[in-house]
Amino acid sequence: MSKADIKSQPAPAGAARGRDARIEARERNDKWRALPLVINESDCIRCDACMRHCPPHFGAIFNWRYDVIIIPELCSGCEKCVPACPMGSIRPSEEWNPSPDEWWALPGSHSDPHIRRRRSA
Ligand code: SF4
Ligand code: SF4
Repeated sequence: MSKADIKSQPAPAGAARGRDARIEARERNDKWRALPLVINESDCIRCDACMRHCPPHFGAIFNWRYDVIIIPELCSGCEKCVPACPMGSIRPSEEWNPSPDEWWALPGSHSDPHIRRRRSA
């Protein structure tokens, strides 16, 4: 098998360990034990403080239309965003659902804020 063939092989199920791999596979790192977090949109004032506190190697928080959202497949549950929120709007989610297709246009795009933050770190 050539190197190009090896590179084109899909990652094994559950092995999405780097952010790029998680974006590609649309799945969480199977080693993460903490629940992903969710934003209560009815309390959120869209200040983006949580986004700035999400470590770029996770990069799970995005502006989506008029909302601020957490992509659960990219959220490790590290809770760095929680104390940054002035409204107490972020909590762990037992009942999280896979992200809708349209959210996956955000991570890795030219407007991905976490890529810009990683470059400037
Ligand atoms: S818990 Fe951690 S990874 Fe998840 S959104 Fe908050 S800061 Fe980002
Ligand atoms: S820090 Fe809180 S209020 Fe601000 S955008 Fe995030 S969830 Fe909304």
